Amino acid sequence: MKDYRSNLRDAKRIVIKIGTSTITHQETGGLNLVKLEKLVRILTDLRNQGKEVVLVSSGAINVGRKALGFKTRPYEKTIKQACAAVGQSRLMMVYQKLFAEYNQIPAQILMTKYTMINDLNRYNARNTFNELISMGVIPIVNENDTVATDELEFGDNDSLSALVCALINADLLILLSDIEGMYTDDPHTSPDARLIELVDTFDKSIYEMGKNTSSSVGTGGMSAKIAAAKIATDSGANMVIASGNDMEIIESVLRGDNVGTLFVAHAVKNFDLLRYLNTGRED
Ligand code: GLU
Repeated sequence: MKDYRSNLRDAKRIVIKIGTSTITHQETGGLNLVKLEKLVRILTDLRNQGKEVVLVSSGAINVGRKALGFKTRPYEKTIKQACAAVGQSRLMMVYQKLFAEYNQIPAQILMTKYTMINDLNRYNARNTFNELISMGVIPIVNENDTVATDELEFGDNDSLSALVCALINADLLILLSDIEGMYTDDPHTSPDARLIELVDTFDKSIYEMGKNTSSSVGTGGMSAKIAAAKIATDSGANMVIASGNDMEIIESVLRGDNVGTLFVAHAVKNFDLLRYLNTGRED
């Protein structure tokens, strides 16, 4: 069998997506600063090794709702959008502060689906990413939840991160979540569920396995992650779903260790990002 894992050591341009449930304390919804600190240190170290790093961070709505005193995640659109406006700036404040410890410059990029749909916006976004990366900056991406509309929202950062990965021709996408990887069945309900370490052929059975094991705080369940994997791997990137419980897993993935689920890259000819915007499936 080909050693797909050791190929990951050579990944140069890497997108790392971190979910809300990974960066917040489950009991209180407050930010897990120890974890964030570690994440920032590892990402800066990757830059120091000469790797190019983009972070897609969720958490705006949750941080905002906590600041505004909502006990649970609000349902109403305008409230969610108001929470995101408050939360996104707080979240960036924390990232700025932590990255400053290591003299690393982060940048904020907020996108909507329209950024991808509109040719000029997409072109500008790609150029800005490339410019920032060449300057040694770590772009931090989120959906612009404050202005996103139902019709034109990514909805979850799993698809957003895969589209970003395709947009900037990254080699690797790492999705850090509250689950170890993809299982043969829902591990919360089925004791026989087994972790799948490698997906090298993307067929219908993969979608079947992605039963919706949605997390309690974020929005992307396993089916969103599988849709993201389809986009990333078709664009020519490898993708790993792994647990964000310990941030050192990023280093394990990049060492080629057998952690999480690896979806192997299989670039399709004439990859057209626009065809993946709605479903993550080309067909
Ligand atoms: N953009 C949302 C936020 O920052 C998160 C979406 C997601 O959980 O995937 O709160």
